[in-house]
Amino acid sequence: MSMTSAEIRTAFLNFFAERGHQVVQSSSLIPGNDATLLFTNAGMVPFKDVFLGSDKRDYTRATSSQRCVRAGGKHNDLENVGYTARHHTFFEMLGNFSFGDYFKREAIQYAWSFLTEELQLPKEKLWVTVFEEDDEAYDIWADEIGVPHDRISRIGAKDNFWQMGDTGPCGPCSEIFYDHGEDVWGGPPGTPEEDGDRYIEIWNLVFMQFNRQADGSMEPLPKPSVDTGMGLERIAAVLQNVHSNYETDTFVALIKAAAAAVGTDDLNAQSLRVIADHIRSCSFLIADGVLPSNEGRGYVLRRIIRRAVRHGSKLGASEPFFHTLVAELVRLMGEAFPELAAAQKQIEKALLQEEQQFARTLQRGMSLLEDEVAQLPEAGVLAGDVAFKLYDTYGFPYDLTADILRERGFGLDEAGFEQAMAEQRARAQQASQFGADYNERLQSEVVSDFEGYSAYESEAKIVEIFAN
Ligand code: ATP
Ligand code: MG
Ligand code: MG
Ligand code: MG
Repeated sequence: MSMTSAEIRTAFLNFFAERGHQVVQSSSLIPGNDATLLFTNAGMVPFKDVFLGSDKRDYTRATSSQRCVRAGGKHNDLENVGYTARHHTFFEMLGNFSFGDYFKREAIQYAWSFLTEELQLPKEKLWVTVFEEDDEAYDIWADEIGVPHDRISRIGAKDNFWQMGDTGPCGPCSEIFYDHGEDVWGGPPGTPEEDGDRYIEIWNLVFMQFNRQADGSMEPLPKPSVDTGMGLERIAAVLQNVHSNYETDTFVALIKAAAAAVGTDDLNAQSLRVIADHIRSCSFLIADGVLPSNEGRGYVLRRIIRRAVRHGSKLGASEPFFHTLVAELVRLMGEAFPELAAAQKQIEKALLQEEQQFARTLQRGMSLLEDEVAQLPEAGVLAGDVAFKLYDTYGFPYDLTADILRERGFGLDEAGFEQAMAEQRARAQQASQFGADYNERLQSEVVSDFEGYSAYESEAKIVEIFAN
């Protein structure tokens, strides 16, 4: 069965609506209820307080297609983009949720029925994992659903035990994988080759079963809950019979638009996939109120835009091109996300401005980097102070320099970069102490065009945020 991404989204929401779930609109990428979280990175985020019991809704079952960003923070897939077939910075998570209503059995039955009956996926292509100690889930899959034992893996806590934080709701997961077939490299879940593109995790079922106490002990929750998430782009690849998310309808259209905008014919270029990915995260972040800046969320946005601009330039773009892709994105996703369509003009404007600002220094920075790289031995490591200079003078965020080097098989001295940053910060602190005496006299004349110090300070904040 071939379905468009839009049809799949609708089919999913309808399937769960017909089974008593309230259809809930996607929330913003900026979590409204959680200051510790950089971006909404899963479908459950808007329901966090409902799971914790501090927010009450007039329904106990919900379904949504939640926009998510995983760039920075605890889940960071930025480095995977362009390298795996399955990761994006922005994606949609289809989910169904039970707030103390149904539990494992129904969650598993619903997922299986949606995949094999509604979408008619061949059962023999599906593999499942359970948490190694979760015999209950294992037995449901094996005895009630009838999945053969050799396609069920028991997996340890790292991948198959979920927790909201160090304390609070937690529980085992069960993941469903799709086998894309022998012509794709990779091994089944639980094997060392699982990170290939053959066996792709499509759906994660989380069974919130315990409440972890401060002393580490786990008490059973009086009313266990369910949280599930399925990547729309991954299930679209399956249904459209392609082996990569980047070959699905939405991405093919964005890649074509990007190719036309930068002026290349090579539709397979890795850079086009990166640009197609990044236009989605950047546009949705701006639609949700983030603007490029030197700190926090705005700095993550800036880093993604600059990466996209660099990839465009690599393909030969000599003019700002990134903002011109917003129109195609709105055509593709504006109906499902009216807030995106409404913000089109602001998004274009913000992207163009950032593109222009970065373009001024991109060429000079690249030529400096080329000179440095030319002097490196094969698989050599670039010195941290060079990366710092690129950051400081040319606006190349650390991860952008790292990305360029990785493409060419070189490394980057992170500790050296950190040290150069720390030294600069110390100098800035000294300067600001010295400046304190002057402050009152100088007030209006000072530092309005000097962005340096605030940038270093905010870098420390970013590091803090990322550490969480
Ligand atoms: P993976 O192991 O492939 O990185 P995950 O276990 O980190 O995935 P979950 O946190 O379980 O992913 O999220 C639930 C679902 O959301 C996944 O099963 C997948 O379908 C989808 N998903 C997760 N991360 C991404 C991403 N970066 N891009 C696209 N889809 C994603
Ligand atoms: Mg992941
Ligand atoms: Mg996983
Ligand atoms: Mg998972």
